[in-house]
Amino acid sequence: MLIFNLEFLTTEKLTMKSSFIAILFCFFAVSIVEAQERPLNIIMIGAHPDDCDIKSGGTASLFVEMGHNVKFVSVTNGDAGHMEEGGGMLAKRRIAETQEVARRLGVAYDVLDNHDGELLPTLDIRLQIIRKIREWDADVVIAPRPNDYHPDHRYTGVLVQDAAYMVGVPNVAPDTPPLSKNPVFLYFQDHFQKPNPFEPHVAIDITSVIDKKIHGLDAHVSQFYEWLPWIAGYADEVPEGKEERKAWLKEKRGGGINPAVRKSLEKWYGKAKADQMKYAEAFEVCEYGSQPSDEELKRLFPMLGK
Ligand SMILES: [Zn+2]
Repeated sequence: MLIFNLEFLTTEKLTMKSSFIAILFCFFAVSIVEAQERPLNIIMIGAHPDDCDIKSGGTASLFVEMGHNVKFVSVTNGDAGHMEEGGGMLAKRRIAETQEVARRLGVAYDVLDNHDGELLPTLDIRLQIIRKIREWDADVVIAPRPNDYHPDHRYTGVLVQDAAYMVGVPNVAPDTPPLSKNPVFLYFQDHFQKPNPFEPHVAIDITSVIDKKIHGLDAHVSQFYEWLPWIAGYADEVPEGKEERKAWLKEKRGGGINPAVRKSLEKWYGKAKADQMKYAEAFEVCEYGSQPSDEELKRLFPMLGK
């Protein structure tokens, strides 16, 4: 009996020892995986070839500086966005502008060949978006909310929401392998109040990269110096010289920080730092896709708090 007990104890001790070694091994294995974790893949999806740049050019620049991969996608080809030009020639000009932005910011930039101003949330375009998200093996997807003044923005919001679950369904768009993990989906910031206002769950300090963001926007000559001033009635404000108009663009598009975004900056960076910030971009977590904890958001937005 005594012998049995001793044997039992010995076996138990051995089991404890192996468990301890196993736990230790797992701990180191996890640490090694964490240390070797691949860069994040971020995909931002806008309706027009300048939407992602306006809403998140700063955040994209920060991701790129930290070694992560960013792709901008324009769901339309921009062929309606001008007062004198249009059609295929305008689409070509705008695609060239996106490629200049890609060079300036270090992002990839894809333009889907759907007409500008005529976007509808069709199955065909939903499949195009599902494929883009899968091909990028996205960890994070950012798109407009479906409340917006522009129908193309609105339907881009719907299309991306409609893709949020389907990116993991193998029988949908079976020519492109499904994602094994559902990404986190977020919305770009906007000012629309109905039916519900934008909630800045994440706010990123972009003060250090504001000039880079403006440098990116400056590549969209057809938009920021021609079309947008014309349609909004301030074409006479655009300065002549290259440097002058870039400085003017920074004034025009730098944007302030509203109280809700300021509060979010305080949450993520602390009040003292947040008080010093001049430029920010904010995002709302979509209820579809993976639902991240604050810790997970910090992993997916590693510039937070820095
Ligand atoms: Zn747009």
